[in-house]
Order: sequence, then C-alpha cells, then structure tokens
Amino acid sequence: MLDIQFIREHADVIQETAKQKKLNVPIDKLVQTDVRRRELIQTIEAHRTKRNQETKAIGELAKQKATAEMEIKKEEVRVINQAIKEVEAEYQEVEATFKELMNLVPNIVSPDTPVGDSDEDNVELEKVGSLPAFTFEPKDHMELGLAHEMFEIERGVKVAGTRNYILKNKGLHLHRAVQQLAVDLLHERGFTIMDVPLMANEEVLYSTGFFPDGKEQTYHLEKDNKYLVGTAEVPLVGYYGNEIIDVAEPNKLAAVSNCFRREAGSAGRDVRGLYRVHQFAKVEQVLICKNDPELADQLLTEITENAKELMRLLELPYRVVAVCTGDMSQKNYKQYDIETWMPSRESYGETHSSSNVTDYQARRSNIRFRDEEGNLQYCYTLNNTAVATPRILIPLLENHQQEDGSIYIPKSLQKYMYGETHIR
Ligand code: AMP
Repeated sequence: MLDIQFIREHADVIQETAKQKKLNVPIDKLVQTDVRRRELIQTIEAHRTKRNQETKAIGELAKQKATAEMEIKKEEVRVINQAIKEVEAEYQEVEATFKELMNLVPNIVSPDTPVGDSDEDNVELEKVGSLPAFTFEPKDHMELGLAHEMFEIERGVKVAGTRNYILKNKGLHLHRAVQQLAVDLLHERGFTIMDVPLMANEEVLYSTGFFPDGKEQTYHLEKDNKYLVGTAEVPLVGYYGNEIIDVAEPNKLAAVSNCFRREAGSAGRDVRGLYRVHQFAKVEQVLICKNDPELADQLLTEITENAKELMRLLELPYRVVAVCTGDMSQKNYKQYDIETWMPSRESYGETHSSSNVTDYQARRSNIRFRDEEGNLQYCYTLNNTAVATPRILIPLLENHQQEDGSIYIPKSLQKYMYGETHIR
C-alpha cells in the first residue's frame, strides 16, 4: 500500500505505473473516494460537536427546570443522532470502497526499472559461466530423470492431477541436497532459518500484497477459510505483522517451505517435466530493514549475491536480468531475476526472483520501527529465492549430464548425496 498523501500528490505517476505494470487501477476514482470520505468524516465530527453542545445545553436547562426549551433541544439531539447514523452508514460504504481501491494501487518503480510489456523486455545485466558444449546428443531432464528413476510424472498425475510429480531415490536426495546447501549458506550469512505455517489467513495474504491480485493463483481451503501459500514470503513477512520491531540491524529471515500455486492462466505453458508444477519447495530469503533507500539497494544486491553464490556452488551458467514493469508484480519497486541455462529449452529459464518492496508490504502489514527521534516509521522489506526445486533440477541434470549417461554432482552437493560424485 502507498501512503494516501503520496497518492494524492502523485496520482498521475501512479496511474502511469499501473498502466506499465498492466494493472487496471482507477486512481481518479480512488482520489474522488478519498475526498468524499474526508468530507463525511468532517460532517460526522461537526454533527458530534453540535450534539455535545446541545447535550450540555440540555443539562443547563434541566438545572433551570426549563422543561419546554429542554424538549425542543432534545428533539434537536434526536435529529442530529439520526443524521449521524445516516452519514455513518454512507461513510462505512465509502470507506470499504476506499480500502478496496487502495489494495489495488501498485508500488511505484525505481527510476532504473526498464519499461516493458513482458519478460522479453527484461534487460540482461550480466552472464556468468560458460554454456555446456556437448560432444554427444544431450538428453532433457525428463529422459535423464526417468532413466535414473529419480522421478515419475504419470503416477504423480494419477495421485493429484496434471502438473504433479513424484520424486524418489536420487531425485529426492538431490531435491533435499540443494535445499540444505541453501540453508547452510544462509545460516553462515547470519539468517534466522525457520519452518513456517503454509496455511495463511486471508488477512495476511492481503497485508503482504498477494491479494487481491494473486487470488486466482492461490488454493483456498474453503471450510476453514485459509489459503495455501505460494511462497514463504507470506508467513515470513506476516511474522512481524502489527509489530514495532528493532531494525538497528536488518532482520534476515529464511524459510524452507513447500509452495502451492494454481498456475491459473498458464494452460498449455511449460507442460513438459518439472518446470511449472503446482507444488514445489523453496528456500526463501526475507529482509526487513529501516526505510533507507540506499540500504535497501545494498541489501537487494546482497540477497541477489547469496543466490549467485549458490549458482556458483551448483556450477551452473546463469544470467541476471533487470525485470521490466510488465513482468513485475504490483508490490515490487525493483526486481532482478536470475535465469539459469536449460539446454533442452535452448534458453535461460527463471530460477530466482529478487525484489525490493520498499515500505509497500510493511505499510499494509503495519510493521514499524522507531527512528532516532522516536517517531514510528514503516520498515522496508525485500525478498529473494535462495533455491527453488524441482525447477533447479532441470539445469542441474541437463548441464551436468555426461556422455556415459551419468550425471555429475557438483562438489558442494556431494556431502549431501552420501559422498557420491555422479548419479549413475
Ligand atoms: P516467485 O516467487 O514467483 O518469484 O518464484 C520464485 C521461484 O520459484 C521461480 O524463480 C522458480 O524457480 C520457482 N517457481 C515459481 N513458480 C513455480 C512453479 N509453478 N513450478 C516450479 N517452480 C516454480
């Protein structure tokens, strides 16, 4: 959420940002609703002041035993009460519309965010590692995984429908190995590692900025009115909701979690293999710091570097892109994606998303800190994937496959793979 004062003063910029983020947000209507809402608050206050004066006057008249005047005043109070009731009813409606519209307003974007329609307009910032030069016909991750009995698709689909899978044997070990590698790295770098609820209340999905926009993507447990989270960012930011916290040092949180996504609207896209599935695991980094733009920029680099270090440890070629407005979510101010080379796709595929959300989530979640003057301020929040699997298994299997059909296990993972150097 943005500050309403900021919206009033920058309505044009925000309308333009909404357009660039491909969001339909009637900023004019929001500004008009805000004007009406403030008029109604003033009217209610004026009525209340008048009522207090009349009530005092009734008290005086009672002392003077001026019954006739008292009755006139009492009738006036009844009329005022009726008027307050009517204005309050309108106010409730206007306030509900105001809140609904406020929830649609996107965060503004950083001046260096590229303007564009889709991921094709993202701007490449750097490329790291060299692409594999196979001297044999390489297999894709499906052929490799099935051949080594690392996963199954058909039985996954039998159990839970399309976009489901079953990991087993070395597939499961590798899936867990990349997560543990990420946990160990983040532990070394001072993160508090958590296991968090994966069912969240509706309120937390609104306050972390995932609703209303992402409602279609979210599984709803109707009987209990809870939602399965699509990322641990939801419980990690929700963790500090409605609190005043100490941010003398940035709070560095990470969680290992399953993530659930309906993938509504992606019918027919990435249907082969493990790229786009309904349930996956992610180690997620979340930072909460003071509202210092320079610090937030440094921290965005830091959490991106953590992911890059993991890519180095996984010995995978990747590139970093600056994400454009049209590929960015409502809440983000600035975003980098890491895309890893996936030989079967003959392209880089997104594996990590690193975002600076400024105070947008904290304002909605009411997460504050006390500044040096003792004033309450909203914090800034940032997040990034450390690793997401099974998607990362695609480049791992495909880039590290050998001519004899085995798959090289990067050194950093071998200790989590019972000391094995290859999947055979
Ligand atoms: P996001 O939270 O949407 O920025 O996604 C973070 C990372 O999670 C992506 O870069 C992917 O590696 C992974 N991911 C997202 N959606 C899916 C999905 N449907 N299936 C598998 N992995 C996913």
